[in-house]
Amino acid sequence: MSELADALRSADGRAVLARGAGRSYGDAALCADGLVVDMTSLEPQVSLDSRSGLLVAAAGTTFGDVLRVSLPQGWVPPVIPGTSAVTLGGAVAADVHGKNHPTAGSFGHHVRWLVLLDAAGTRSVLTPDGTPERFWATTGGLGLTGIVVTVALQLRPITSAGALTRQTSGRDLGHVLGLLDDAFADSAAADAPDPGDAGAARDAGVHAVAWLDGRARGRGIGRGIVQVTRPGGGPTGLRAARAQRARRNCRSLPGPGVVNRASIEAANLGRWLSRRDGRERWTDLRTALLPLDRGDAWPAAFGRAGLLQYQFAVPHQRTDVLRSALLVLQDAGAPPALAVLKKLGPGNAAPLSFPGPGWTLALDLPARWRHLGPLLERLDGIVAGAGGRVYLVKDSRLRPHTVAAMYPELPAWAATRELMDPGRVFASDLGRRLGLVPPVGSR
Ligand SMILES: Cc1cc2nc3c(=O)[nH]c(=O)nc-3n(C[C@H](O)[C@H](O)[C@H](O)COP(=O)(O)OP(=O)(O)OC[C@H]3O[C@@H](n4cnc5c(N)ncnc54)[C@H](O)[C@@H]3O)c2cc1C
Repeated sequence: MSELADALRSADGRAVLARGAGRSYGDAALCADGLVVDMTSLEPQVSLDSRSGLLVAAAGTTFGDVLRVSLPQGWVPPVIPGTSAVTLGGAVAADVHGKNHPTAGSFGHHVRWLVLLDAAGTRSVLTPDGTPERFWATTGGLGLTGIVVTVALQLRPITSAGALTRQTSGRDLGHVLGLLDDAFADSAAADAPDPGDAGAARDAGVHAVAWLDGRARGRGIGRGIVQVTRPGGGPTGLRAARAQRARRNCRSLPGPGVVNRASIEAANLGRWLSRRDGRERWTDLRTALLPLDRGDAWPAAFGRAGLLQYQFAVPHQRTDVLRSALLVLQDAGAPPALAVLKKLGPGNAAPLSFPGPGWTLALDLPARWRHLGPLLERLDGIVAGAGGRVYLVKDSRLRPHTVAAMYPELPAWAATRELMDPGRVFASDLGRRLGLVPPVGSR
C-alpha cells in the first residue's frame, strides 16, 4: 500500500493511471507522459471465505489466480470475461460481462465493496449502498476515478469444475438469435439483476455465445454456431486442477501477419463446415468459458499493426444493426476474422457501463486495413442511431461527440469524477482522446 502512495507522490504533477494486465484492446490502459502504475507487480493477495464465498483480493489479482483458489473450494466468479488474464481492477474499471449477462448481470453487480486510492493517497471504502455515486462511477469508470486497490467479490457456489457444453448451428441470423434466446429462456426474468443491486445470489448457470460466419452472405448472413455451457456436475476427474497452461509472452509476427481476406474466408468456411450439430461434451469450466486462453499467441497472427476489435451493443429489437454491420464490412471487402455475438440483459447503475438489454457483437479486424476508419465511423453512426453503444474499454478510434450520443449519462459521471479527482490527476490516452477527462491540473 505504501508502494502505491510512494508512486503517487513520485508522479510530481504528471497524470496517473492504474494498469492491470493490459488486456484492453485500445488505449484505455495507456497514459502518454504520465505515471502508469502496474497493479500486477504488487504482491497478489487472495482470501476466500469458503462458507460465504466472499473473496477479498488485491486489484492486480487475475481471474486465473482467483479460479486457482476458488474452484477447488467449490466457488466461481459469477461473471468471467473471455480471458483469465484480466485483473479484478480491470474488471471493475470496464464493468466486464461474461456469456451469462442476461441472468448474472455484469461484474459490478457482484462487487460488495472496493477500496479506492485517490490522488492524495487517501483510501476510501466504496459500496453500492453507502457511496452509490462513487461506487458506480468507479465501476465502468475506466480507471479515471482513482486506483482500485482491493475488491470484495461475492462468488457463487458450483458443484464441480466441470461443464456440459452443447453446440447447435443456426442457418441465419434470426435462427442464431432464437437459439440464444432459448438458451436463457429457462432462467426466469425474475432472476435478472435489479439496477444497482450488487451481490445478490442468482442463477448464473447458463452461458451462451455464438460464433458467426463472417463471410456468409445473402439469406445465410449471420449464420453461426451457438455454444451453450452449463457449469457444474459431470463425470469425476473434471477437477479444477487441470494442468495450468503456461503463459507465454506474445510477440506480433513481423510484417502484415497471416490474417488477410483469403485466410479469413478460409478460416470462417472451415469452421462452419466442421460444425457438429447437437454435439454435447463434458469438459472443464476453464476450457468451456475461456477458449482464448488456449491460444495465447493468436493476436500475433494479425502482424505488427495488430488487430482492432469493434464491439457494440444494440437494443433487442434492433437486430437489423447486427445484419448491417456484417453487410457493411463484407461489401467493403473487410470481413471480420472473428465475429462473436452474445445476448445482454438489464444493465446497472454505472453511467459508463457498456451492457444493457439487447445484443452485443464483437468483430475482430486487421488494424492495417486502411479503409477501416471511414467504415467504422459509418457503423458508429448506425449504432448510435439505433440507441446502441461501442464498448469503450476496447476502443481506439471513437470521437468525443459519438461517445456523448452513445453514453447519455456521461455528464453525470463526469460531475462525480470531478468530485472524486478535483486535482484532475487521473487520466488515460482514451480519456483524453474522448474528452472524458479535462487536461491534467487544468483547474
Ligand atoms: C481475449 C480477450 C477476451 C475478452 N473478453 C471479454 C469479455 O468477455 N467481456 C468483457 O467485458 N471484456 C472482455 N475483454 C476485455 C477485458 O475484459 C477488459 O479490457 C479489461 O478491462 C481488461 O482488464 P486488464 O486487467 O487487462 O486491464 P487493463 O487492460 O490493463 O486496463 C483496462 C482499464 O482498467 C483500468 N484499470 C486496471 N486496473 C485498475 C485498477 N486497479 N484501478 C483502477 N483502474 C484500473 C485501466 O486504467 C484501464 O482503463 C476481453 C479482452 C481480451 C483480450
